[in-house]
Amino acid sequence: MTDNINALLRQIPKVDELLAHPQFAGENKTLLTNATRQVLSDLRTGILQSKITSLPTLDELALGISRKLAKTNQPNLQKVINGTGIILHTNLGRAPLAKAAMDAITNSAPGYSNLEYSIPDGKRSSRHIITEDLLTQLTGAEAGMVVNNNAAAVLLALLAVAEKKDVIVSRGELVEIGGSFRVPDVLQQSGSHLVEVGTTNKTHLADYEKAILAANGYYSHGPGALLRVHTSNFIISGFTAKPTLEELAGLAAKHSLPLIEDLGSGCMIPLHEYGIHGQPTVAESVKAGVDVITFSGDKLLGGPQAGIIVGRKDYIAKMKSHPMARAMRIDKLCLAALEATLRLYLDPKLAVQEIPTLKMLCETQDNLFAKAEKLAEKLAPWATVISEVSQAGGGAIPEENFATAAVAINADITAQALEKHFRTGPTPIIGRISKDRFMLDMRTLNEEDFPAIVDEFSAFVRIIKTY
Ligand SMILES: *Cc1c(COP(=O)(O)O)cnc(C)c1O
Repeated sequence: MTDNINALLRQIPKVDELLAHPQFAGENKTLLTNATRQVLSDLRTGILQSKITSLPTLDELALGISRKLAKTNQPNLQKVINGTGIILHTNLGRAPLAKAAMDAITNSAPGYSNLEYSIPDGKRSSRHIITEDLLTQLTGAEAGMVVNNNAAAVLLALLAVAEKKDVIVSRGELVEIGGSFRVPDVLQQSGSHLVEVGTTNKTHLADYEKAILAANGYYSHGPGALLRVHTSNFIISGFTAKPTLEELAGLAAKHSLPLIEDLGSGCMIPLHEYGIHGQPTVAESVKAGVDVITFSGDKLLGGPQAGIIVGRKDYIAKMKSHPMARAMRIDKLCLAALEATLRLYLDPKLAVQEIPTLKMLCETQDNLFAKAEKLAEKLAPWATVISEVSQAGGGAIPEENFATAAVAINADITAQALEKHFRTGPTPIIGRISKDRFMLDMRTLNEEDFPAIVDEFSAFVRIIKTY
């Protein structure tokens, strides 16, 4: 036994022998050598553990090395095709960018820019200026700034404006927004003190006022702010009540307190004419008198990851100069993409055409059916076009289901097996399973991805036929 192992070990080819294999002409020498060493080391281990009892040929080893090399060259962050129908899929990177946003990145990435430099003055400037004019113009607010995401925006607002005092929040708004963003926890981390008012379903203006008066008491930390949180990812319906934003803003003003609103999604324009109702816009909050409004750049706004803060000039100034602002600052490429995305909103019709998130959201079911027919034709006879519903995702518009069209795959194999096959192909195709059928939702599919889907499907049919 050991003799055989020793014999095998002696026959392992030398690294140089494999490097000279014709298959590797033109390969990067360093990467190739690393891959070869790994393959030979695995081989040695396999022989020592008696898992490998005969030596692979040089060609077989070369194939193993090529595979290892291909894996090394493949980025960990890779393209996937989204057939889930969930537009703002947090796990799949939320909002795809508009062409103008990508151009802005491409233009600014390779060189230098006036990120923090005033060209007229020849002096240092602030990156907040890049988007401030657009933000004030689009929302009606006095001032604006940008940080790296909305979670940071909320934290910074609390740090700079509530200043470790009491922050009054309705019990119906103490939400968790996926992952680890929980309003009570963020509040605690900001050093301010949570004062819950009202109940889960009903909170009245008088509840807030009572809490403000109590916060002035001897054992309290003093009233710091009123906080309104947009309950992005769920709805409370039935026997419910809460004061309007105007009422809340009026109460805050009466007591000289800031009203902060975490708006979550940050819808920039009304979408009624596209059949989407009940999404508050940022401008409405400004108009209602909210002092500080925070929202995401990569939810309904459809831009890059960012946290946008608009509101009263004095509060925004405090945030800009807060020591923690630096730790949350937006990166220059995101800023470039954000500016370009905001610029599209100057013409709302253009925004709906050009910003993929809005375009997908506003797409009619008729158009989606036409798209589904095109794909189904290529996949015949294995596909059926069906009427389905899709969701916005990203904790946006939870009350709305959007009528969509999907292509369901018919095959004598479980929906789970199908789902796995498509997910693990060369370009992962992520679909969804509904009523025990695997399907691709047209709302989030790009027609440019049809050839990749058809290719993957052909591979699947070949597998099916060999069963
Ligand atoms: C999504 C969301 C957040 C977190 O925003 P990110 O940009 O993901 O950090 C915070 N609050 C509300 C209400 C949200 O919907």
